[in-house]
Amino acid sequence: MKKKILIIIALIMIISTIIRTAVVSFSFLNFSNQLIENQTLLIKEILEETNDKEKFLQIIKNSHHINDIKFIPDQKTENIKIEYNFKTQTITSIAPFDDNGVLQITFSGVDYFSKLQSAILQLIAIAITSLIIIILIVNYYLTPYLEILEKIKQSTEEILKGNFNQKIETKLKGEAKEFVDSYNNFLTKMKNSFGVIEEKYTALIEKEKSKDPLNDAKETIEQLANIFQFKRLIEDDATSNSILNRLIDIIKGFNINHFALVGIDNSERNALLIYSQGDICCNLLENFESCRAYRLNKEINSLKFKKICEFHTCKNEYICLPFSSGGNFTGILKIMTDKEKDQELLQQNLPYIKAYLNEVSAVIEAKYTLEILHNQTIKDPLTGLFNRRYLENILPTLIAAAQRRGEKMAFLMIDMDYFKKVNDSYGHEAGDIVLKTLSNILKYSIRKSDIAIRYGGEEFLIILQNIKSIDDAVKVAEKIRENVQNSIIDIGENSIKKTVSIGISIFPDHCMKGWECIKYADIALYEAKRTGRNKVILFNKQLKKETNYNA
Ligand code: GH3
Ligand code: MG
Ligand code: MG
Repeated sequence: MKKKILIIIALIMIISTIIRTAVVSFSFLNFSNQLIENQTLLIKEILEETNDKEKFLQIIKNSHHINDIKFIPDQKTENIKIEYNFKTQTITSIAPFDDNGVLQITFSGVDYFSKLQSAILQLIAIAITSLIIIILIVNYYLTPYLEILEKIKQSTEEILKGNFNQKIETKLKGEAKEFVDSYNNFLTKMKNSFGVIEEKYTALIEKEKSKDPLNDAKETIEQLANIFQFKRLIEDDATSNSILNRLIDIIKGFNINHFALVGIDNSERNALLIYSQGDICCNLLENFESCRAYRLNKEINSLKFKKICEFHTCKNEYICLPFSSGGNFTGILKIMTDKEKDQELLQQNLPYIKAYLNEVSAVIEAKYTLEILHNQTIKDPLTGLFNRRYLENILPTLIAAAQRRGEKMAFLMIDMDYFKKVNDSYGHEAGDIVLKTLSNILKYSIRKSDIAIRYGGEEFLIILQNIKSIDDAVKVAEKIRENVQNSIIDIGENSIKKTVSIGISIFPDHCMKGWECIKYADIALYEAKRTGRNKVILFNKQLKKETNYNA
């Protein structure tokens, strides 16, 4: 900066000196021309009036400032011409004399040239002296100001690295001192505020110090704001599933393309794949108890320790993050990556991902436990199917919805044939196994939108929603009947086969009220039992008459 200013000053001085020298030389020459012209005219006038011209010329030649004077015939000029010869240091004037010739006078120019030379030298000397003086003055007065600028430059470079201790000093007084003081005050304020910000956000997010802490703080605060909003959202979510779905969207938002989210029910001791994008690359679902992240309840990161997990089957790198462990629910987020660029990005985003998991942990356990409790009230513990209490709750809603949408609904009442015999021959526990097996057959024989209920001891009710025709309901019932008939049930040392009887009623073809439909299905079931068992009977009005039922 200082160098630049000095170079600019020197250039200005040099250019102005050159201009001044040129102006001085030009005016000097003009002035000289005037003198020579006057002298030439004077000599010419005297010579014209002189009788002995030769003698006069001789006399003039001896003059100390005229080197030569001669009359040149047969040459013509209208004005006086003056020529400078810098080599011989002479000035020659050629003036018209008469019609035949010109008068040529050669003056000695030594005096003129030396005066011009000394004038130019003086100009240069003045320029150099003033240049030195200006440089000294500028140096003296400007240096402290330039020093302030230099220190501010260094200090701001340090600020960008998060170092606010670079206070600056100056010997200057007045406005410069005030400026330095206010800059230092600003630094102190920045240091205090940023220190607090950094301390707070590092307490919330595990982050290592970065090379660009200011930008880092901005990014972290933005992320914290997002995490805060996320927390409020999931707190209001009704189910653990919706929380996990939001989490999946967040993970995708970090540009992670290969990951799996597994939920482990610690009381039921089973693992469920909640979501996966790409191969999960381990048998976490079948053997979650061996999972290192689950077992140790800590992050397993192959980017930090190569091949840390013996169960990982792919070549890519992986990070397994357990969350919300210790209660009924444990989540495992497994993130996989094979590109170095993605790995870098993942490492950068990892603190934020962990912060999100942390928020999920805090909320999901409570929601999951509530869901378990709720399920306990609406589900049968032996078979895991819905219980009668659940049926009571949803039946009016189901009927109203089907009525509104103009849809058909089928009620399948299912009862195992001669079930008592199982209990009597193999014991109550064997009976329970048979009931569990039957409920599993029911579960996989129906669609997700259909509802399977344990209606009584070994009586089950299935509600098929939105069926296209009565025939469809009969087909499903037949499929269930056949599936049961074809299943071999292992009860300890023995294997047995069982059959079921099924009664069907259709809403709104047979009945308009929920309980009426169930009753009619029961009537049809009774008919199936009466006419030989292991069969499907569709309700009809005749059956109603026979049983003398009054709704
Ligand atoms: P049917 O063909 O006429 O239906 O003959 P069944 O022997 O199946 O007769 P019924 O339906 O009346 O039998 C019900 C039996 O189911 C009575 C009871 O011992 C048994 N039971 C009810 N609930 C359970 C249960 O939770 N576990 C076991 N093991 N048995 C049960
Ligand atoms: Mg029964
Ligand atoms: Mg029975």
